[in-house]
This record gives sequence, C-alpha cells and structure tokens, in this order.
Amino acid sequence: MRVANLAGRLILLDGGLAVDVETASGGRFPADPQQIYPRWAEFRHWAVQASPGPGSPFSREELGAPAPAPRQLIAIGLNYRDHISETGFATPEHTPSVFTKFVTSVTGPMTEVRLPKDGHTDWEVELVVVVADRAFQIREADAWSHVAGLTVGQDISERVIQLENPSPQFSLAKSYPGFSPMGPCLVTPDEFEDPDDLRLGCTVNGDRVQFGSTRQLIFSVPVLIAKLSAVMPLLPGDLIYTGTPAGVGLGRTPPRWLRRGDELISWVEGIGELRQRFVG
Ligand code: ZN
Repeated sequence: MRVANLAGRLILLDGGLAVDVETASGGRFPADPQQIYPRWAEFRHWAVQASPGPGSPFSREELGAPAPAPRQLIAIGLNYRDHISETGFATPEHTPSVFTKFVTSVTGPMTEVRLPKDGHTDWEVELVVVVADRAFQIREADAWSHVAGLTVGQDISERVIQLENPSPQFSLAKSYPGFSPMGPCLVTPDEFEDPDDLRLGCTVNGDRVQFGSTRQLIFSVPVLIAKLSAVMPLLPGDLIYTGTPAGVGLGRTPPRWLRRGDELISWVEGIGELRQRFVG
C-alpha cells in the first residue's frame, strides 16, 4: 500500500491516481495525514477490504510530507561505515549516534530551500521510517510490525554550526526551514522484496554524489527500533531518519557545498524521489 499527503489531505495511491481517504471512507478516517497513524492497523484493514477507487489524476507539486507533524523526529548519525570513514569520526559500536531534526524543518518532496547565509550546506540522502503504533521496549524480531511504512528523506545539514563547537551540535544545524524534506509517498514494508536491502542515492545538478544500500547500515531498521525503544516510547507517526551513506560534500577534497541554483534529487528504490532547488 502506498499513501501520500496531497495538499494536506491523506490519499491512497492507486496506480498513480489519488483516492481521497476521508471522502472514500465516508468520513470514517480523517483527512489530516498525521492523524492516521494512531489508527494505522484499522486503516490498513479498511484500505485492503474496501479497495476504494478509482482515483483521480493529481499534480506532484502538491504533495506534502507523508507525516508532516511528528511528535518526535529521531535522526541517526554515522550509520554507514563508508560515510564514517569520510567524516573522520569513530564508529559507534553499541549505541547509535542519535540527534533530532526539529519538526519545523519538515516539508514535502518538491521544494525550494533557502541556503543559510555564510553556511556550508550539504546533502544526506536517507531512508526514513514512519512509526505505526506506540512502540516501547520492542524486540528486534518484532520491530518491522511497528513500522507504518518507509519514505525518502534528505537530512540537509549546515556544517559550520554542526561542527564549530567542541561538542558537535547536530540538531540545530540540521533544522533550518526546509532542511527535512520527505516523501513523495509512504510505502508499507510488505511492498518490498527485502525492506532491509534498499538502494538509495542522490544527484546534484545531475552528478551522482551518493549511492548505497540500506543493507550496509551498521544499525539496521529493526536494531534501531529495538535500541531506541529500549529507552523511549516511539509514538504513532514519529520519524526515524536512519543515516546516510558516503558521498556527502563534507567528505570531498576540496569539500563541495550546495550553491544557489543547485538542484538536488534524492531517491530510494521502490519509493520515489525528492527534488530540492536551492535559493540564496
Ligand atoms: Zn543524516
């Protein structure tokens, strides 16, 4: 099943057409995409049973974030070995490196992003997990059953603020407006042959800069859910940005930063792509 946010309303995607969930369900389910996650199991059951449709054509420019207002947005740093090598940090061994992207930075998949003045703005394509029901102290073996679906995210990062303090402060530098685009849709885990092995990458002005597979994650999606939920409850509609593979601008010699007019296209196999244009 694939769902999306079309101009603030939850839709089911039916062969590239949009079925409005509130209308098709006769008001049983709300239009607000964020409100579906506490009722995810009931919603999935209805969507399979009712098989609503046919859908209507829509404009991709009107798509928003599949989970536009999560209560918690958890992001994982240093989760691919080849990316750790290029950054010069040490490899986390037992506990993932965790920070937040503040939720005011969340946007939909096709956006213009304003570059911070005097910043060094960089790209990080990531697989993003959307949590279904409340998940606390979950075993790795049960973790996938707590995932509503997967989407594509960009963890856009301003490296000056991120790295200038003695103790790096990832969260602030990754939370400018528009720095957490995601979408274009949410895809349920059963849609993938192996949801733990998805290729992902991004291009800047057509140059391929990142390419990897989630098979290379140090802490896989089930391990992340187990380790995060061992400490804190994960709430319906929460997001987990799972980390980025090698190829960021920081890791280049000389470093490459995003500039006004650049176009960043980010994708995950079987989900779709994001498209960001940078303005200054
Ligand atoms: Zn990241």
